[in-house]
Amino acid sequence: MPVKERILVIGACGQIGVELTLALRKIYEPQHVIAADLRDEHPLLKGTGPYVTLDVMNREMLHVLVIRHHITQIYHLAAILSATAEKNPALAWHINMQSLIHVLEIAREENLHKVYWPSSIAVFGRGAPRQQTPQHTILEPTTAYGISKLAGERWCEYYHERYGVDVRSLRYPGLISYKSSPGGGTTDYAIEMFQAAVENRTYTCPLAPDARLPMMYMPDAIRATIELMEAPADRISLHSSYNLHAFHFSPTELAAAIRKHVPEFEICYQPDFRQQIAESWPESIDDSQARRDWGWKPAFDLESMTVDMLQNLQQLRK
Ligand code: NAD
Repeated sequence: MPVKERILVIGACGQIGVELTLALRKIYEPQHVIAADLRDEHPLLKGTGPYVTLDVMNREMLHVLVIRHHITQIYHLAAILSATAEKNPALAWHINMQSLIHVLEIAREENLHKVYWPSSIAVFGRGAPRQQTPQHTILEPTTAYGISKLAGERWCEYYHERYGVDVRSLRYPGLISYKSSPGGGTTDYAIEMFQAAVENRTYTCPLAPDARLPMMYMPDAIRATIELMEAPADRISLHSSYNLHAFHFSPTELAAAIRKHVPEFEICYQPDFRQQIAESWPESIDDSQARRDWGWKPAFDLESMTVDMLQNLQQLRK
């Protein structure tokens, strides 16, 4: 009989964590998917499965939790995101790196079956080609967040090569969602723009009109994560992190897509420090290795994501 997986989601109350936890609880026994976060339990998680308060920086606490709940897989989502990291780079490095090392060390010691840890398009930096950025290219990140993600990728591969930990990872583009709030990333502007449109407010954009970035709708990101983790080990040729792509747009292009459905929507531009971050990131990503290895294919494009976002945000306001 196959071993029953017991999953720990760290950072379960964040933008990705809430939706990922709910999706995992549909696949696995809900009692076997333990949500953990520093914050109070997110309202959408309440009553759907076990919840524990956890500071992933406390290694002992994490270790005890893993042993007590017979955890076999960890999804480690807790991190300081790009825009917040620029305000306190040393803290971002400390939290993003130390928490990952704690998870990898416990995975090694306790022989966990799998670990998931997300990287980001922030790993590339100015030296990489900005269009169709390849999987393997110059990696010279200029942001504190990007530096921590690149180092994290190297540690993931190291733990796989040296200790055989089955760690899997995706370089997420900017993620767009309506269920839980974004946590301080450079691409959060896109979500704020949708919110302004449904509330009939003029949106002041912190990026320049032509700052084009790779993006993905959350249902695709959740599906990609679970498909990667469910793929047989012999289909996984990368244990650093896979490029992942769906579509790309600039603030002007997103505003135009929204205006097709909300014609009165207005936007103005006041680029701030986030524009510098955006300028150092790719515009589009070559994710052919993910497509080849484990069959990745996005379902949403800019138009279908826009329709779905507007419908859901309008529904939530009723
Ligand atoms: P988020 O900020 O919305 O959520 C992170 C969660 O981690 C929060 O609920 C926070 O309370 C929790 N947390 C922070 N410190 C903690 C600690 N010490 N112990 C326990 N929990 C802690 O972030 P997100 O958008 O859900 O991102 C999750 C992961 O995906 C991060 O690694 C992020 O870098 C990566 N990522 C996100 C995006 C995106 O667009 N959202 C894009 C690329 C990569």
